[in-house]
Amino acid sequence: MKNKIFTKKVLIFLLVIVFVTIVFFGSYYLLKNDFRIKSFDKEYSYNYKEEFKYVPAEVCYGNVFSCKKIKSINKGKVDTSKLGKYNIKYSYNYKDKKYVLNQLVYVKDSIKPVLKIEDKKALLCPNGNISKLNITVTDNYDKDLSNKIKYSYNKDKDRVIVEVTDSNKNTTYKELEVIKDDKINPVIELNGLSTRSFIVGDTYTDEGAKAIDNCDGELKVEVSNNVDFNKPGDYEIVYTAKDSSGNESKVSRKIIVKALETGSRIVYLTFDDGPSEYTSELLDILKKYNVKATFFVTGNGDDRLIKREFDEGHTIALHTNSHNYSYLYSSVNNYFDDLYAIQNKVKNVTGTSPNLIRFPGGSSNTVSMNYDGGIGIMSILTREVEARGFRYFDWNVSSGDAGGTESSDQVYINVISTLKEGSSIVLQHDTKKFSIDAVERIIKYCEENGYTFATLKENSPGAHHGVNN
Ligand SMILES: [Zn+2]
Repeated sequence: MKNKIFTKKVLIFLLVIVFVTIVFFGSYYLLKNDFRIKSFDKEYSYNYKEEFKYVPAEVCYGNVFSCKKIKSINKGKVDTSKLGKYNIKYSYNYKDKKYVLNQLVYVKDSIKPVLKIEDKKALLCPNGNISKLNITVTDNYDKDLSNKIKYSYNKDKDRVIVEVTDSNKNTTYKELEVIKDDKINPVIELNGLSTRSFIVGDTYTDEGAKAIDNCDGELKVEVSNNVDFNKPGDYEIVYTAKDSSGNESKVSRKIIVKALETGSRIVYLTFDDGPSEYTSELLDILKKYNVKATFFVTGNGDDRLIKREFDEGHTIALHTNSHNYSYLYSSVNNYFDDLYAIQNKVKNVTGTSPNLIRFPGGSSNTVSMNYDGGIGIMSILTREVEARGFRYFDWNVSSGDAGGTESSDQVYINVISTLKEGSSIVLQHDTKKFSIDAVERIIKYCEENGYTFATLKENSPGAHHGVNN
């Protein structure tokens, strides 16, 4: 009995202690002055390029009865145009007391690509391929996903599945009804221009065509070519391609073979002073349009380029080895030594000895007066070269690239505005990048305006200037 009463007393005592402790600490907490925080998110996620805003916690300093609101000082920047993890620091200061909250901000791309499909149904080819659809795909993050479009066929559903996943693994997926009858023709694309003009006796290697089929991929192209380059006339080279379902396409290239008559608009593109570091670029352009030119070469460049010019069917002519006026025009012997030097070089490189030449500065140059001691060297040389079996050429269309201009646009305008009704011998320099940059446009203009390209031959017009010295 005594024990029971004792236990009861102890229990009450303990309960009182607990109660007092709770009241003590509770009121301590409620009355204590400290930073007090309303809800705060330790982590935030933003979408790529979404507008970023600081989201600090509401913080005050004080106790439950009186608490003073404190403004945050935000530190740390978030660039939502860059995916990743960012740290933001919110600081709160009250008198000399400081409180800091950290927040992690993630910038993620969680937006799916948008697929717009023009077609209502998808074609399942006889060979199991799926014909490509007209799809535009846009994505907030990836610039171009057009080659990430995946096609598959779901047999159970009898549906074509189109799927695209962006670089952050967001996937968009669409199902389309299926058709199985291929009625789409192959698409034929010509290599090179669809109309070409030549003069009788020219050679032309067919540039061919490419055929792509929606079901079969690349197809073989049949070519029917009965162009007779020795007979003037309008011809067609016909390209045909047939897919495995029997759909056929035909495309043709018009070939005009013109007789070389007086009055024909013939353009001779000629390039002086090369080869140079720009010559290969020029050769690529000429190759693209299958245009042959005449190069008046010097010994100042890479001889391998002379070989390439020759191998690609251009005419190699001579401009002198050194192109050094003070040496060349100081005596007749110097001139010929230099001319034979380049002739030998060309012979070594190509196996042929050209006899077509152009004087540095042209036959009308007066710069030679500075070096010839008053002998009238151009009058002597123009006679002497012919006597030694050379044919010299000047020009009647100047691009102005030797000093008149340094602009490609101006070169283009100078050339096309002074083309002749008959033969145009165009002077350009393949040592000038800006001049080469105008060649593609000059070719297109000529092709579109009924001009025919040719290379200089012994019987071509010389376009001789008047000799002034
Ligand atoms: Zn020159």
